[in-house]
Amino acid sequence: NKPVLEIEDLSVAYVTGSGLVHAVNDVNLKVYPNEIVGLIGESGSGKSTMAYTIMRLLKGDAVVTKGRVKILGQDVYQLSKKELRQFRWSKMAMVFQSAMSALNPVMTVETQILDALLSHRKDMTKEQARARARELMELVRIDPKHLKSYPHELSGGMRQRVVIAIAIALNPALVIMDEPTTALDVVVQRSILDEIRKIQQEVGFAILFVSHDFSLVAELASRVAIMYAGRIIEVTPSDLLHLQEKHHPYTEGLLKAIPELTAEDVTIQGIGGYPPDLQDLPSGCAFHPRCPYATDICRRVRPEKLAVGDKLIECHLFSEKELVSHV
Ligand code: SF4
Ligand code: MG
Repeated sequence: NKPVLEIEDLSVAYVTGSGLVHAVNDVNLKVYPNEIVGLIGESGSGKSTMAYTIMRLLKGDAVVTKGRVKILGQDVYQLSKKELRQFRWSKMAMVFQSAMSALNPVMTVETQILDALLSHRKDMTKEQARARARELMELVRIDPKHLKSYPHELSGGMRQRVVIAIAIALNPALVIMDEPTTALDVVVQRSILDEIRKIQQEVGFAILFVSHDFSLVAELASRVAIMYAGRIIEVTPSDLLHLQEKHHPYTEGLLKAIPELTAEDVTIQGIGGYPPDLQDLPSGCAFHPRCPYATDICRRVRPEKLAVGDKLIECHLFSEKELVSHV
């Protein structure tokens, strides 16, 4: 089972007037076919930078300083501009938070879907593309009559469905979704997530689902990667995401911050403090100023990455032996 996405030792920095700001550091992550992997982090943790790096959509002030991104075995950064244009959408696609910015306001839904199809599939006739557009609308549960609509004539939820339809139009192996439902109200958000799950099962593609919403990701994804200060500090199967399992202290804090809706006494114990300034990271483990378990070594030495099977962790509290017992 070959991974769809392989991120190896990836580091990304932003060039600023006062030097490099390291937004992503030493990240390793694999996503397998038909898998939904969640990528969670607070704002500024590097998760969106990761998403843009994978798509090779970083702006001019951001540079990959180390490592590789491979999709279907192909190093994305080795592709020529032309190859990259073909590769994007046909092998990897992305759904952003704001559907409005992804859609062209002066073009009908149909024109936009046809554009996506015909610019990549030279063998496709216009008639075939029209049929595919109708099929895609049905897949995302929108009445095909809305092919004739303009984006502003649709609700926010429908617009985001159209964006998803365009993303999967060419059957990509990987779809990266960066906060795809954050701009929508809770009910619409729910129904779109259910649909994403159904479509994913029906069509079969892998999803890297980027979000700050821990409980939502834990529910949708089969595996979850947790980012803090540009590093993935834990990867865990989501069915182990509860407080009965031992987790990275940051993950534990996130778990405690989810209000227990069934409990009579709802206590929310968030994580004290704030995410660190990436330009001035704490020494040792970057989480140490907020960690209730921090000891002297945490302040001095950054913990090594421990990876066993499906699990990965970066914390001095864990030994390899212990991790094995948690797999
Ligand atoms: Fe806390 Fe130390 Fe683990 Fe960092 S390495 S999370 S400070 S216990
Ligand atoms: Mg973001």
